[in-house]
Amino acid sequence: MKRIAVVTGGTRGLGEAISRELKQRGCEVISIYHSNEVAADEFSASTAIPTRRCDVADLHACQALVEEIQAQFGPVNILVNNAGITSDAVFHRMTSEQWWHVIQTNLGSVFNMARCVIESMREQKFGRIVNISSINGLKGQFGQANYSASKAAILGFTKSLALENASKNITVNAIAPGYCDTDMVAAVPVDVLQKIIAGIPVGRLGTADDVARMVAFLVDDKAGYITGATFSVNGGQFMG
Ligand code: NDP
Repeated sequence: MKRIAVVTGGTRGLGEAISRELKQRGCEVISIYHSNEVAADEFSASTAIPTRRCDVADLHACQALVEEIQAQFGPVNILVNNAGITSDAVFHRMTSEQWWHVIQTNLGSVFNMARCVIESMREQKFGRIVNISSINGLKGQFGQANYSASKAAILGFTKSLALENASKNITVNAIAPGYCDTDMVAAVPVDVLQKIIAGIPVGRLGTADDVARMVAFLVDDKAGYITGATFSVNGGQFMG
């Protein structure tokens, strides 16, 4: 059976690799982006995966998006909440706007998208939800109180949603990637990045494919006994 998979932030970085991997494994994938039309067009042209533009921080926009997808493709079976941003500052200089923008984008979006698909997953008695957290949600990070808070909150949400929906054959898991070679990490100053890599036991940044393969494993029909868990994909950088 062809599963319908929605990947947020699905046209660049980790999301692009996740979208490609799920398509390669036989899913009908729809990839969501926010504003980078050029990247979305290139992605769509090279993968033939349909894209949709949506601000996943906006509940009403998510409702309209999911309604349209369900009408065209059928019920969403797999949701990968991958969209995320950073807006770094030490806390004593962080603005309220920086705080809420990151919380609403990284955490609000997880509520919005999961809320829009969960009732239909329960009716279908099948669902796979994977939430992309971060190593920095597990261990904290200097200059990222907003980001770390959003990514840590995702882990509590994941466990609660897993508990509530386990009896309906819906699994909900989180992945906490370490530093991966994407645009988000390209924004980190080179000297800081070199120090980060020096602290990674396997001696390199992660690739988007490292994370995509874990997503594909978790959303497989046969992964029904794995729920409420957090999986680190971080080259051994943090084992807490
Ligand atoms: P990128 O910055 O490369 O891509 C982010 C993606 O999220 C883009 O597709 C972007 O859309 C989308 N996005 C951002 N805001 C919104 C929004 N409001 N609505 C819809 N889509 C949005 O990020 P990465 O691929 O590096 O990261 C993906 C996820 O993995 C994030 O949640 C991040 O926090 C997490 N992560 C990343 C790590 C890394 O090292 N890269 C490490 C740990 C976690 P558009 O293309 O339109 O801008």
